[in-house]
Amino acid sequence: MAKLNKCSFCGRPENEVGLLISGLNGFICDACADQAAAIVREAQKGVKDDSKLENLPKPKEIKEYLDRYVIGQDAAKVALSVAVYNHYKRLNHRGEDDDVELEKSNIIMVGSTGTGKTLLARTIAKMLLVPFAMVDATVLTEAGYVGEDVESLLARLLQAADGDVKKAEKGIVFIDEIDKIARKGDNPSITRDVSGEGVQQGLLKLLEGSVVNVPPQGGRKHPEQKFIQVDTRNILFICGGAFDGIEKRIAQRLNTHVVGFDAARNVAKIDQSNMMQYIAPMDLKSFGLIPEIIGRLPVLTHLEPLDRNALRSILTEPKNSIVKQYVKMFEIDGVKLTFEDGVLDYVVDKAVEFKLGARGLRSLIELIMIKPMFEVPSTDVAEYVVTLNFARQQVESANMSVLKESTED
Ligand code: ADP
Repeated sequence: MAKLNKCSFCGRPENEVGLLISGLNGFICDACADQAAAIVREAQKGVKDDSKLENLPKPKEIKEYLDRYVIGQDAAKVALSVAVYNHYKRLNHRGEDDDVELEKSNIIMVGSTGTGKTLLARTIAKMLLVPFAMVDATVLTEAGYVGEDVESLLARLLQAADGDVKKAEKGIVFIDEIDKIARKGDNPSITRDVSGEGVQQGLLKLLEGSVVNVPPQGGRKHPEQKFIQVDTRNILFICGGAFDGIEKRIAQRLNTHVVGFDAARNVAKIDQSNMMQYIAPMDLKSFGLIPEIIGRLPVLTHLEPLDRNALRSILTEPKNSIVKQYVKMFEIDGVKLTFEDGVLDYVVDKAVEFKLGARGLRSLIELIMIKPMFEVPSTDVAEYVVTLNFARQQVESANMSVLKESTED
């Protein structure tokens, strides 16, 4: 019988291992290779400080990156870029200069739904390669028996970090609809305490930075499971909310503040068409957020409503725009996909007409593309042109009310 090669590490012969890799003077089996890789990883951990974020991009670089994925929203991009840069700078220099303690700069973004709040937060996390979790504030409850409790938010972040606590502790959490967790008095919900002050107190604890016991699988359904301790001190919280009607409040505030003989001149300086740019923390108070929460969200920025031009750009310009995605999908099947002139403008018109916003763009294109996506792969065409007529037919035969519902959140 021929002599069997053996793993030079564990000595097992090749017929007893899954795979035997040969080197210059020896062999290594799959199991030993795995083990060696684990040892290397462990050793590297000791050398690298996991709590720091390496190659931190400068604010301008962050903004440039955001520009590739998000259309417009310059004010929010600049505010975010600076806040994110400062946040991770603070994290990287922790403990180096203890006389001046750098405070955490959680962020709050105000803007109508579908204007890019989530997209901005998600894109930043993608750029920095940090774990990202998103949660709707309305599903957070104090007790955890309806919806989710505040800690479960960290469970999601842990999941996004593949269970690596150190990684999760420098992640980004996006809390949407923060404007919907008003104090009880402001929002009379009789059935459940989803809008209670307790949720806000819970959130406050996370925003401030504290060590939180996190149920590993989320929820408290498995009391036997061990809690994982997560320190939220270096987690960046980005909150978002539509704060419907806030423009009126801003206008009121500006008008009441400019009384006096100089008033007329000051009012004239205010750009009435875009009140959002004058947003200040005090405008948030009337939405029932407790002052402590507002205080813990020191970076306040706003998003502009998306006009026709912005919607048109969203279709084609971002790096992974909807149109680019469809072209790519057809390309994989060897088909060149093009849209006849006017199709994209038509889609924008419909999105505006039915007030579908940016989310509606995808639904509309999906509606138009479902038939070709079904049929084209079974043909041998090398090119497919979406004509304006065809697009019209598809959209007009659809039930727009269904489309509208599917884009609401
Ligand atoms: P919000 O969080 O403000 O409700 P999202 O960020 O979830 O809105 O936006 C919904 C979708 O609309 C995104 O997935 C994206 O495709 C598109 N979108 C919205 N705003 C923009 C924008 N400014 N630039 C590019 N795409 C956008």
